[in-house]
Amino acid sequence: MTIKILPPRLANQIAAGEVVERPASVIKELIENSLDAGATQLEVRIDQGGHKRILIRDNGSGIAKNELTLALSRHATSKVDHLDDIERIATLGFRGEALASISSVSRLTLTSKPADQTEAWLAYAEGRDMGVQIKPAAHPNGSSVEVADLFFNTPARRKFLRAEKTEFHHIEELIKRLAMARFDVGFTLIHNGKTIRNLPICKTDAQTSRRIGSICGTEFARKALYISGQSGDIQLSGWLLPPSSCAQQSPAQYTFINGRMIRDKVVTHAIRQAYAEFISDTGLSAYALYLTLPFDQVDVNVHPAKHEVRFIQSRLVHDFVVQAVQDALRQQLPLATDDEEV
Ligand code: ADP
Ligand code: MG
Repeated sequence: MTIKILPPRLANQIAAGEVVERPASVIKELIENSLDAGATQLEVRIDQGGHKRILIRDNGSGIAKNELTLALSRHATSKVDHLDDIERIATLGFRGEALASISSVSRLTLTSKPADQTEAWLAYAEGRDMGVQIKPAAHPNGSSVEVADLFFNTPARRKFLRAEKTEFHHIEELIKRLAMARFDVGFTLIHNGKTIRNLPICKTDAQTSRRIGSICGTEFARKALYISGQSGDIQLSGWLLPPSSCAQQSPAQYTFINGRMIRDKVVTHAIRQAYAEFISDTGLSAYALYLTLPFDQVDVNVHPAKHEVRFIQSRLVHDFVVQAVQDALRQQLPLATDDEEV
């Protein structure tokens, strides 16, 4: 065996294996980019469970014409300058890999118009076999990324794609989690030309409550207790279903850490431990909880898909969450928006 440097396309395809598992993971990366670009309105349009086509349109900051090709290159990011930045990441992305990875295993079109540019431009890459082509386009301020024929050039991966219905289910779950993370952003989900979800921006308590109801169920929206706790610079807020109402199978269980959708063992364990005082089957607990702590107290650079984090002081975080949740469950405060129509 001789040692050789992998050609860039192959290196990207290997990297894609870690981040781009299925259509939902493509959508997660693209939406995170839109949110990092300050978008407040997102349209997710998919065909055939995302096998055929995924299109994400945002009203974010856009990408200048002369940076379109760079945006599709590996290790190209506008979010990190120094090693220090990695230790307190405030953006959802930072690896500079998503667009390069996705474009190496699909036919990708990135169309964009920053507000200060008069025309829109598009960059097209087909499995990275040919270079990136740049062409004029029509687009309002913001960006669209279209991903067609996912895994067309990686048959082994393609085989792992599940039925349209299964892939769509993953996508819907993802949109629900993202929508619970960002009430200040509007989401539309369109599948095979049909609008499946339309979640407008939540500006009032009533709108917030309506979104919670449409994602977590009206029972949850009606009965959940509002929680808000703080200890030093760690905060926990959100909603908890009182133990007496916890009965539903596959209940809403959402946790967010510094705005990221993360199902963390430390946090989940703490929530369950708190519920265990009141119910025997803590799997029936239902909650949407938002943990915030200083960016340098949590390492997000653990896994390429950013599913996991590590807390610098995990014991402290755990005990704080147990305490805050227990206090809330004992007090049984009604949801702040309880009086509103759901
Ligand atoms: P990362 O998000 O880790 O920086 P990506 O490959 O996902 O890497 O994106 C590369 C770069 O392209 C981003 O840093 C950002 O500058 C730009 N970009 C990608 N998507 C968008 C978007 N929807 N709006 C504005 N800029 C974007
Ligand atoms: Mg990204």
